[in-house]
Amino acid sequence: MATLYLVATPIGNLEDITMRALRILREVALIAAEDTRHTRKLLSRYNIEQSVISYHEHNKLARLDDILLALANSQDVALVSDAGTPAISDPGYELVQSVIAAGFPVVPVPGPCAAVAGLIASGLPTERFLFLGFAPRRSRERQRWLSEVATIPATLVLYEAPHRLLATLEDCRAVLGEREAAVARELTKLHEQVLRGTLGALLEHFAATAPRGEIVLLIAGAAPTRARAAAPATLAEPAAMASTDAPATVDPQLVRERLLALRAEGYSGTRAAKQVARELNLERQAVYRIWTELDAS
Ligand code: SAM
Repeated sequence: MATLYLVATPIGNLEDITMRALRILREVALIAAEDTRHTRKLLSRYNIEQSVISYHEHNKLARLDDILLALANSQDVALVSDAGTPAISDPGYELVQSVIAAGFPVVPVPGPCAAVAGLIASGLPTERFLFLGFAPRRSRERQRWLSEVATIPATLVLYEAPHRLLATLEDCRAVLGEREAAVARELTKLHEQVLRGTLGALLEHFAATAPRGEIVLLIAGAAPTRARAAAPATLAEPAAMASTDAPATVDPQLVRERLLALRAEGYSGTRAAKQVARELNLERQAVYRIWTELDAS
C-alpha cells in the first residue's frame, strides 16, 4: 500500500542526512516540501531528480486532497520541511492525521531535530525533557505559558527567534527563578555555539552581545533536577515589564489571573497564595496581599 514517509533533513550541515532518507527521497513518486526551492537545493546536492510540490503553513489544508489522491493512486509520498524533522514546529501534523484516518501507512524516517541536538549538547538532564516549541510572542502570555510548566521536573526545551531571546530569558528568570540553562545557536553550522550558565548569566551575555541565528533554549526543570535554588522574583510595575535591563519580575496581572482561577476552583486565600507563590517563584506574602485586593478594583 502507498505510504507517507516523514523524512528528516539537515538543520544546517548538509551531510546530516541518512542513507535511508536519500533512498526514500529518490524512490517516492512525490515529495511534499515546505519550500520547494530550499528542498531542490538539498536534492541537487545529492543528484536527486524528483517531483516536488509545496506543502506549507498556508496551503496545508488545500494540499491534503492532492496528497491523499497520490496515495490512493498507489504513489508513495515523502514529506520534508525546510530543516529537521517534519511536524516538529513545522507543518505535518494535520497531514499525518488525515493519512492515518484514510488508512494509509505513515512511516518516520528519523534524523536531525534541533530540539534534540540542543538538548544533548546542553549538559542539562536528558532523562526527562519537555518540548515546548516556540514561546508566545507577548510577555504576559509567555509568562502565563511558562507558569504552566514551572513546577515540572523535566528539562524544558524551546525554540526562540534571536530578536526575542532576551525578553524570553527575562520572563524565564522571572517565572521559573534562577536556573541552569543553555542557548544552543546555529547547530551543525559554521557559527555553532552552545552557551551554558544560569539564566541570569545568559541574560547578561546576550544583553552585551546581540544573539544571532537559529536558537534552541534549554532550561533545567524544577527540583529535583534543578541545579540551583531560585531567588524569589519580584512583582513588576507594568512599565518595568518592557525593559530588558529590569531584574526578574512577574506581571501582577498574571498573579491576579491565577488567583482568580484558583478561587473559582474553591481554593482558600492561604492555599491559593501558597500555590501561586510556588508556581511563579514569588514571596507568599506578596501574593497573599494581591489576594486580599482581588475585589478592590
Ligand atoms: N522541524 C525543525 C526541527 O526538527 O528542529 C524545527 C523547525 S522550526 C520552524 C525552526 C526553529 O528550530 C528555529 O527557529 C530554531 O529555533 C530551531 N532551529 C532550527 N535549526 C536550528 C539550528 N541549526 N540551530 C539551532 N536551532 C535551530
